[in-house]
Amino acid sequence: MTDQDTDDTGRIKKAASLILKDDIKHLQLIPSVALKLLTLTNDDNARIDSLSRIIETEPMLTAKILRQVNSAAYALPNKITSTNRAVTLLGFSTVRQLALNLLIYNNLKRQNPSQLFDLLFFWQHCLYVASLSRRIAVALNYPDPDLVYTGGLLHDIGKVVLETHGRVTYSDFIASIGNNQQSTLEEERNFFGITHAEMGHIFCLEWQLPASITAIVAFHHNQPTEASPHAPFNTAIAIVSFADYIAWIQGIGSATQRNSHPTLQRAVLETIDLDQLNLEALLQQVDQDMQSTQEFYNIQLPSLITLRATLVKATINLSQVSEDNALVAAPKLSSCLTAPHHSLNPDDFIPRTLEAIQDEFSFDRSIMFTIDPKRRCLIASYGWPESTLPTKQPAFEININSLSGLLLTCLREKKAVIIHTKVEQNNPIIQHLKTTEFIAIPVAHQNKLLGVLYADKSLSKKPLREQLLPEITPIAYELGIAIFNAKQYHLEKKNAQIDHLTQLFNKRMINQFLTTIFQEDGAALANIAIGFIDIDKFKRLNDSCGHQAGDDALKIVADILRNLTRPGDFIGRYGGEEFLFVLRNTNETGAYGYAERIRSEIERRGKIMSQRFHGHNLTVSIGVSLYSEHYADYTDMIETADQAMYQAKNSGRNRIVMLTGDGK
Ligand code: GH3
Ligand code: MG
Ligand code: MG
Repeated sequence: MTDQDTDDTGRIKKAASLILKDDIKHLQLIPSVALKLLTLTNDDNARIDSLSRIIETEPMLTAKILRQVNSAAYALPNKITSTNRAVTLLGFSTVRQLALNLLIYNNLKRQNPSQLFDLLFFWQHCLYVASLSRRIAVALNYPDPDLVYTGGLLHDIGKVVLETHGRVTYSDFIASIGNNQQSTLEEERNFFGITHAEMGHIFCLEWQLPASITAIVAFHHNQPTEASPHAPFNTAIAIVSFADYIAWIQGIGSATQRNSHPTLQRAVLETIDLDQLNLEALLQQVDQDMQSTQEFYNIQLPSLITLRATLVKATINLSQVSEDNALVAAPKLSSCLTAPHHSLNPDDFIPRTLEAIQDEFSFDRSIMFTIDPKRRCLIASYGWPESTLPTKQPAFEININSLSGLLLTCLREKKAVIIHTKVEQNNPIIQHLKTTEFIAIPVAHQNKLLGVLYADKSLSKKPLREQLLPEITPIAYELGIAIFNAKQYHLEKKNAQIDHLTQLFNKRMINQFLTTIFQEDGAALANIAIGFIDIDKFKRLNDSCGHQAGDDALKIVADILRNLTRPGDFIGRYGGEEFLFVLRNTNETGAYGYAERIRSEIERRGKIMSQRFHGHNLTVSIGVSLYSEHYADYTDMIETADQAMYQAKNSGRNRIVMLTGDGK
């Protein structure tokens, strides 16, 4: 070890002992059987025997392994009862993996972490990273795939140490970070005085885990330098780091609440030759691995929807990360594969993806056609280079009903096609864009068409090869996910701000709006009014006409408010049958006039509806507070409006009461 390393180990050891409740030597996070399995090396001559012997010391393990080998999948004529034979049949690596997974999982289960540190999520992340690391190692001909599997399984063990034995736990940490934009490692250091990777490092040293595993655990977030004693394990570390990154960008992170994902280190990309990896095939294989793991353990891992939600959160967070924290640009192919994940703004990621595709495949023009399902047309929405599409309206649009030939096949069967003028002279795109041929790739998600990607080589006039199609398809697939995520995000954002029944802003937005207004200077504040509108005897209406009629009455009131409110003013649903308005640039007369227009219009509409409401009069009482300097905060002003409203109720309902801060 260099002096620097010794110093560093000393520092983190000290930090670890300060934050842990017990001596790290006493932590039983990995059972001794698993430790023995970890130290079994690949070139052990008697490895099947040793493995069998170890497994036989754990009855639960023996039972699981025998059950697996006797399962229908292996279709063996005779029942296998010997562990040794089972290991021979299933293979050393498989059995060791299964055994390790099981032992560590059972042990984790006993640790009983709190809800914020979700054990299943964490476990799924580790399994995913392990399995993907192994698959990558095999694809790269790395000599020891078992090592990266184990390394992947244990890479975040430091988080478990902190969660289960920290004086403050990993759950406490998660609860404390909120939406901070610093990297997780920095935040961990601020919170614990030590990062999870450093904690894992100390754990591995104390428990004398093999140097290779220790190196992966300690350096999966920053690759050691060439001079470091850990440098011999650089490839293994890079593989696990890369798998960790891929897991996170798919939403398979180690904590549900933690949004920011690890950065992709430049050193990792320098160590791994991405061109040797068929990412699509790898991801598919790992999905299958995960499926069999679930079946083997008979556990239900978090659903894909949950993971996607995590991904949406992670992406939102990432899009906010400042530029100097931004990801290191990956080489070409991976940059276009992952570009869509970096943002939730289609105006940002679609042009970037087009640019990346163009670079990668030497196209001259590329266009993203989006779909307007209502008007059933394709709209040329984004072009690269930007000059491809005219900036002036109207945009180039194609009526889907008028389509025939290959483009229709592309949309219907979601199949990528090359269209040549020789075959389809009248194709509207060929005519409009004046090209002799182009490629059209459907962009879809969950079998729903979201758009069509267009690309041509109209300047170079080079022919478009058929082989291009399978190469671009994965990118269109990624783009589909990104567009879907962006849509989901906007939908969710809208849902979080809008009251479902009335489509008015909800209480959360009301508070947010008022907070912003109260940060303005006094002059702007001086002319505001806040009012509560509460439906009279609404309970009676609900009771006599039913909940549906009540809901309809709420919608009617909301409509009236919408129609009578100026664009610069604000209305929202504050709660059950209570609405709130905020008027700006008004005065006593103005505010009263507005309130009276609302009151009388609701009364008028109520009369029209009176039969439907069984003779019940739909009316409202309104309380208004006018700004005065006495109000330090908007909550005081709301309070006064509320008092005014109650005065209106007490003095007979269907009326307006107005108060100022001085109680007048
Ligand atoms: P007051 O004139 O004093 O305001 O009497 P009220 O009956 O309007 O007031 P109260 O607060 O006693 O009752 C409000 C009722 O509003 C009770 C609740 O069932 C109903 N309510 C709240 N939210 C909804 C909703 O979304 N839909 C329907 N249909 N009713 C709702
Ligand atoms: Mg980590
Ligand atoms: Mg009421």
